[in-house]
Amino acid sequence: MSVARPGKIIGVGRNYREHASELSNAVPAQPLLFLKPATAVIGDGVAIVLPSDSKQVDFEGEIGVVIGTPLRRATERQARAGIAGITCVNDVTARDLQRADEQWTRAKGFDTFCPVGPRVVAIDPDRYGELEVLCRVNGTVRQHGYARDMVFSIPTLVAFISQVMTLEPGDLIATGTPAGVGPLHAGDVVEVEIPGVGVLKNVVAKEVV
Ligand code: ZN
Repeated sequence: MSVARPGKIIGVGRNYREHASELSNAVPAQPLLFLKPATAVIGDGVAIVLPSDSKQVDFEGEIGVVIGTPLRRATERQARAGIAGITCVNDVTARDLQRADEQWTRAKGFDTFCPVGPRVVAIDPDRYGELEVLCRVNGTVRQHGYARDMVFSIPTLVAFISQVMTLEPGDLIATGTPAGVGPLHAGDVVEVEIPGVGVLKNVVAKEVV
């Protein structure tokens, strides 16, 4: 399955303990949700553009969950059945703007800040805990995490989000990033890999205004 443009993208903040502590944040008692706009989505091989508004744009390699059937106030069991599959996501974040603003819309919402793909792969929900995510910059591994280390599991997140908003087919959830985030620079090549799912590769470019 290829990746269609999602109706909405729900991000999850601080869903790995080590990443929360590297940014000096506490682990939330409930999933910490934010939205990214659909206009931020780019595919595999398309350039991430560093906006001139920010001095620090970070990579965040993440496990992406694509919704298959509508979910409204779903149980975890219904959530498992309603997931179409797993894909790679880079939740690109302007870290300086995230710190400056009371909320994260600007920091997470620039065009090209949501590379997704290259494909969506159906995974047995009983094996979600085994999912592994790596992020490489210029060939060096910078992040490496497992879904079993998430504070809130994939079915828990999907069920929780569906209490707030109806999840529709194609909606994308970026499930949080493991430790190791860092800045991107023009010319970098950043890859997010989920073994068994694929490798999402994007170059980084400076904004031309
Ligand atoms: Zn993230």
